[in-house]
Amino acid sequence: MKNIKYELLYLNFLNNSLSLGAPNTLYTLSAIFLQGDSLAKLEEKLLVGFGDVIDRLVSTPSGTVPLLRKGRDGQAKIRYSWMKVYDETRQRYGRPLTLLAAEKIMEVVKPGDYVLIITNSHEMDGPPGAAALARALLVGLRAIPIITANFEPGSKFQRALTQSCTGAQIIPVLTKEELTGSIWTPYTTLIYNWPLLTLEEAEEKTRDFLDEYRPKAIITVEATACNKKGIRHGALGGPRNSGDPDEKIIRWNQFIDQANSRGIPTIATGDNGNECGFATIEDILVKHHEFCADCGCPCGEGIISAASADIVIPANNSNWASYGIEACLAKLLGNTDVLHDEYTHDRILRNCANEGIPDGATAMATPSTDGSSHESCIYLVGQLRQSLLMSMKEIVRESR
Ligand SMILES: [Zn+2]
Repeated sequence: MKNIKYELLYLNFLNNSLSLGAPNTLYTLSAIFLQGDSLAKLEEKLLVGFGDVIDRLVSTPSGTVPLLRKGRDGQAKIRYSWMKVYDETRQRYGRPLTLLAAEKIMEVVKPGDYVLIITNSHEMDGPPGAAALARALLVGLRAIPIITANFEPGSKFQRALTQSCTGAQIIPVLTKEELTGSIWTPYTTLIYNWPLLTLEEAEEKTRDFLDEYRPKAIITVEATACNKKGIRHGALGGPRNSGDPDEKIIRWNQFIDQANSRGIPTIATGDNGNECGFATIEDILVKHHEFCADCGCPCGEGIISAASADIVIPANNSNWASYGIEACLAKLLGNTDVLHDEYTHDRILRNCANEGIPDGATAMATPSTDGSSHESCIYLVGQLRQSLLMSMKEIVRESR
């Protein structure tokens, strides 16, 4: 009987929520009439619903160029098929992916803990997402983010990373010592230059890093990594190295592999399958993404990273997945400031692009991401914010 009453009230709530055009009054979610189990169930449904809204926003290529061609008359890559990768991944996990990631972060990260964010794409998808996520971890959890990437000191990519952080209102530092010790440290994030390494060196250096910092979670933001044959590929299947284990190259898979054996939660964001951690959904990727099934290079192994992260978020681009995690963290913490706003987003994108970093799809220095226009990126953050703000209200319609 109690359940029936609850369902009716919930339906009533949903119906009322749809009548936004009518005169109404907004209240905070008091749910005076719902008690005990019923209230808990309603809150769970609302949370999962919110997570699905965020997931769909960040995995929908609206405002995005749908076609990328490999050479003027070459093979066409269609963006829309990636939505199927998201759908099947969501189905497999049984819960919204951005919400799962935020819940895991909330569970394991306490104030003063290090969280490792790995990025290295040297284009517009990566630095903005990493910087925005670092901001959310600082504002929401008082954690200490470390953004790891490979770069030449003083290069435009280093500046793109630091300027993305500044755009996100946080202060980038280049040494561990600068993270503590003064009143100007609470919003600092460490930019850590990860060197090019042989396979053996990567195993050792990753172990040393994890021993020193003991990060409570690892999140990859567009960190392209090697496939099972040790070859890292571009988005369109081109190989970046020979596969020789003694070659000094960018190696990220060791972080996920070693974190998995140490029980450190790992979260991977991506839009292609070559991003570190995406082997978790290899079967789904092979089905829907041509370069995952066949890279077209002599290795014949496909572009999928050899490492398997705990949670994989296939989104329209890795930046957008990061903003989705932020929105869910903000929701779980009940703190809207945890998600950056549209004006801050404009500043992040402009700061990054103004260093001369290309958009990965258009190859132009536009403040856009993987062919998603500047405007669509800002509108996305606007939609995320409005979804967050509206999710904290309740509409009650009643007769006088
Ligand atoms: Zn290949």
